[in-house]
Amino acid sequence: METGPLVLPRLTYYRLLRVPVEIDTSNCHNRPHIHRMIGTVLYHSEAVRSALFPREGLRFVNWYLHHGCNRHCSYCRVPKQKVAVMDRDQRREALGRLRRLCVKQPVISVFGGEPTLTPGLLLEAVSDAASLGYLVNVVTNGSGLSPDLIRRLGSAGLYYLAISVDCDDDTEKSDLQQALDLHKVAKRQGIIPVVNAVVTRRTSPVAMKRLVTSVINAGYLFSPLMCSPEIPGGSFSGAQPDSIPTAQQLRGIIPWLAWRKLTTGRVTSSFGYLWAMYRSGSSDSRGARLWHCSSHLRPWPGTRGRGYMTLDSDGWVGSCQEFPRSVNLLEIPETRLSVRFLDDLFIEAVRRCPGCFHNCYVMEEDIRGLRALAEMSTFIQIAAIVSANRRSSGFAPNRTAETSLP
Ligand code: SF4
Ligand code: SF4
Repeated sequence: METGPLVLPRLTYYRLLRVPVEIDTSNCHNRPHIHRMIGTVLYHSEAVRSALFPREGLRFVNWYLHHGCNRHCSYCRVPKQKVAVMDRDQRREALGRLRRLCVKQPVISVFGGEPTLTPGLLLEAVSDAASLGYLVNVVTNGSGLSPDLIRRLGSAGLYYLAISVDCDDDTEKSDLQQALDLHKVAKRQGIIPVVNAVVTRRTSPVAMKRLVTSVINAGYLFSPLMCSPEIPGGSFSGAQPDSIPTAQQLRGIIPWLAWRKLTTGRVTSSFGYLWAMYRSGSSDSRGARLWHCSSHLRPWPGTRGRGYMTLDSDGWVGSCQEFPRSVNLLEIPETRLSVRFLDDLFIEAVRRCPGCFHNCYVMEEDIRGLRALAEMSTFIQIAAIVSANRRSSGFAPNRTAETSLP
C-alpha cells in the first residue's frame, strides 16, 4: 500500500541516488517507521540549521576521556602521555561550561586512548554528556567492547559508535569481523554504526576497497581517516613523513570512495574531506599538501571560523586534538568564559601549526552553507538507521539504565 503523498517524493529521491534505504514501502505496517524517519529528520533540524546557516557557537567538541591504550599504532602518540583524569563533578562542570558555548545540537566525540578500558567511566561520561544535550559519539579500537556494554551505552544515550579497523598488513587494529558483529548489536539499539580506517603509505587500495565493501554491504557506515603527519608540539599524531600516502595511492582510493558515497550514502566523510585527501598525497619530489583550519573560533555570525575545540582528560582545553592544552577550563571565572575569550588563548598555537588531515575538523569547517546539501544521502542513511531501530522518535535516552559497571 502506498504510504502517502508526503513520502512519495522522498522515495523518488532515494531511487535517483540509488541509496539503499531499509524500508519496504509496499507494506502499510512500515508507516510508523516512515513517521519515525520524518521524526528523526525533524529532531536533527537544529543541527542541520546550524550547518546551513553557521552562527556563533561550537558545533563539535572532542574529548580525551583518558590517555591510556592497549595498542601501539605507529601514527599515534596519545598513550605515551601521562595526563590526569577529572573526577565526576569536574567532568560535569567542564561539560556544562562547554555546553553553554555551543549551538543547540552539538556533537561530542569521546575518545582516548582507548575509552572502553574504563567502562564505568565511559558510561558515566556518555550519560552526563547526553543529559546535557550533546549528540554523543564514542571512538574505540573495539577491544573492550561487548554486546552488554554496547546496550548499556545505548541506554546511557550513545548516538554514534565508531570502531577503528585498519587494513595495513602490520596494523594493530585488524579484526573487521569483530567490528561487524558488534555493530549488529549497536544498530539494533539505534546507535549509528561506523567503521573508521586510517589510510597510510602501507594501505593497499585493493585491501581498502575490500574492507569498505564489507562494511557498506553489511549496512554500516564507513569513515576514512588520512594519516596526518607529526606536528611540532602536537599531542596526537606521531606519523613520520614516509607514512603519508602517495598521490598515486590516493588516486586509486579516493575517487572510488566518492562514488561509493554518492551511490550508497554510507561513506560519512564529506566530499570536501575526500577532496582534501585527494589533493594531499605526497610524491618523492613534493611533500603532502596539508589542510589548515581557520585561525579563529566564531566570534561573529556569518564569518568563517572554527566551530570546535578539544577537552583534555584533566579539564584543559585547546583548539583541537593536537593542541588541547591552552588553558584549564575549570579555572576560568564563569563570567569571563566565552568563545572570544578562548579564541585569544588558542590563536597562537593555531597560527604556528603547519596543518593536518584530521577529518573531524576538516568536515566541521567544510559542512556549512549550501555545501551541506551535498551530504544529504549520508543524512538519509543515518535517519533510516535511527528511525528503524529506535522504539520512539523522541530520542530521549533512557537514563534509568545503570551507568556504572563493577
Ligand atoms: S590510534 Fe587509538 S588504538 Fe591506536 S594507539 Fe592511538 S588511541 Fe590507541
Ligand atoms: S590545522 Fe588546525 S585543526 Fe589541524 S592540527 Fe593545526 S590547529 Fe589543529
